[in-house]
Amino acid sequence: ATRPLIAGNWKMNGTGAGIEELARLKTLLEEAGTVESDIVVCPPATLIHRAAQTVEGGPIRIGGQDCHSSVNGAHTGDISAAMLLDAGASHVILGHSERRADHGETDSIVRSKCEAALSGGLIPIVCVGETETERGEGNANQVVAEQLRGSLPEHFGNTPIVVAYEPIWAIGTGKTATPADIEEMHGHIRELLIERFGRSGEAARLLYGGSVKSDNAGTILSTPNVNGALVGGASLKANDFFSIIVAA
Ligand code: 13P
Repeated sequence: ATRPLIAGNWKMNGTGAGIEELARLKTLLEEAGTVESDIVVCPPATLIHRAAQTVEGGPIRIGGQDCHSSVNGAHTGDISAAMLLDAGASHVILGHSERRADHGETDSIVRSKCEAALSGGLIPIVCVGETETERGEGNANQVVAEQLRGSLPEHFGNTPIVVAYEPIWAIGTGKTATPADIEEMHGHIRELLIERFGRSGEAARLLYGGSVKSDNAGTILSTPNVNGALVGGASLKANDFFSIIVAA
């Protein structure tokens, strides 16, 4: 079976106190012994370097929440894949619905970022997901298929494919998709990835995101074609995130 990937997205949360939570998480994992999942924590960019130093020697890896499509240049405020790697990140979340909404990121922008991440040596975690209206109108599958088609590059080389399905209406709302809806959507995504990428599509890790908490993580993570979770709010506290990790 595919080894699950549990990723935490801190979003725009976290200062030095967040580093203490991360250190606590590392200790909890050490005390628990072997870990059955890959674990990635994506703090805000300002904390990446400190976070990477904090988790050194343990199972936690660090990711960014976005990167620019260029290697460097006149892009005030932006961060390149090379910079994330240099700061200690191995992963990067791309095309999160909040970036698509706040920064007008289109599928083709996400795709360029994804290409930059891959050539910069990072593992992209590409996010897709429909709005409540789109689901209500019966268009969820079509919307997600379109996002995947536009946001993923043609070639991943040897880099594993990671896609996060995050229905927008489930993010930060306490609502989660039903296991049946998640199974259907993840099955649909799997088919599309196999069609396009063959073996790498079969091996792709499909994460579910949207109000994943310790009390629903077990059910969600045992759903067919769910290979992990992308956790927002519940990744901020070491105890909460740890209980999601052990539910995997
Ligand atoms: P919540 O877990 O807070 O709903 O956020 C999900 C998310 O957007 C993770 O990227």
